[in-house]
Amino acid sequence: MRIFPFLTALLLVCCTTGEAPPADVPARIDLLVGARAVRFLGPSTAPTSSVHGRLLAWEFHATSGTEAHGTIADPRRIEAEGVDDAELYAPTGVVTLDLPASSGEIVVRFAGGAEIGRALVDPSAVHSDDELIDLSRDFVGRPRRLAGDATARVSFLVVPEGYTEAELPAFHDHARRLIAGLAKTDGYDHFFHGISVWMQDVKSHDSGITDPEHGVVKNTAFGVSFGKGALRRAISPAADVQDASFAAMTAIARRVRADATIVLVNVREHAGMRVGQSVFVSNSDTSVLTIGHELGHLLFGLADEYTEHAGPCEIPLDRPRPNVADSLDALPWKDLLTTHELPTTSTTPGTVGAFEGAKACEHGLWRPQLDCKMRSLGVPFCKVCRRALETFFRDRGVVAR
Ligand SMILES: [Zn+2]
Repeated sequence: MRIFPFLTALLLVCCTTGEAPPADVPARIDLLVGARAVRFLGPSTAPTSSVHGRLLAWEFHATSGTEAHGTIADPRRIEAEGVDDAELYAPTGVVTLDLPASSGEIVVRFAGGAEIGRALVDPSAVHSDDELIDLSRDFVGRPRRLAGDATARVSFLVVPEGYTEAELPAFHDHARRLIAGLAKTDGYDHFFHGISVWMQDVKSHDSGITDPEHGVVKNTAFGVSFGKGALRRAISPAADVQDASFAAMTAIARRVRADATIVLVNVREHAGMRVGQSVFVSNSDTSVLTIGHELGHLLFGLADEYTEHAGPCEIPLDRPRPNVADSLDALPWKDLLTTHELPTTSTTPGTVGAFEGAKACEHGLWRPQLDCKMRSLGVPFCKVCRRALETFFRDRGVVAR
């Protein structure tokens, strides 16, 4: 029995102009899983099988007879610093699929499991971005380019959270500093000429964000809140506003074809979090280090390599990760090994082996090098993560400089 009747699908086929694309261009569909109208994926319906729950399978049955299918990482899964394996799910996740340019029906399931929902897709029912978000309320002006040019193959969007209108000039300074820092970050520095960065002003009524542990409630553009207890650093939109917040971010991101949305949060405390295509980062002294790590998750599919926080082990891994293995016999970085000692205990700098401990788990998972940006902030990417970064940019046609 299906508990929830259907999946809400919002079709965004416009870009900056709001025009429908030519008929032969695949429609882009944003499935707002758990959108306001039908809140069908709350915490009580988090997947019962953690392994299957992390992956969703979709099938598209076009009325023209065309079929398409694929899998996507569950966009609701939260990866937050220190709680990567805590099986956290946001009610809302946003994912973009390329579908045949035809009307039809899309069905989404837990991979190998139960149907989550289905929705009718009609490419002729074009929605403009403005139908999705109330641009007149919080958004100030249009997206502006902060870095890069029209030839860039990769695009980031930076939006402010918890900045009042009077504080928007400060946001501009903070965003410029963050992006300038990222441009100098080891690994990103060789490819930054291939990245364009956009900035969209969004004003908040209050300065700062909600802090439930200290009884602080703020009225902000995206309703971002500190987490509680061990999840304090997991800053993200509060549950009651998640749908609207992610819809707004997605709509703006589409306008500039952003691969990642960076939400710069107006608090000084170290905090960072990734949900789907969005990264939340505070304006702290460590934000430049944090953003390089979080984008490692988002863009390159890298897993955390740290073990500081004891937690349930994710063994076997839900999906192959370039930089974490659950078997010494199947290391994705076998070709880069510089030692035969597996598992590896050597502390010689530069050794590529199999060091035990990753993804918050001390045993049963291996990482390639003693240290890495995915393990410690302020450390360069290890050789394996560096290769994942280079592969991402090369696949986008960005040549290293
Ligand atoms: Zn690494």
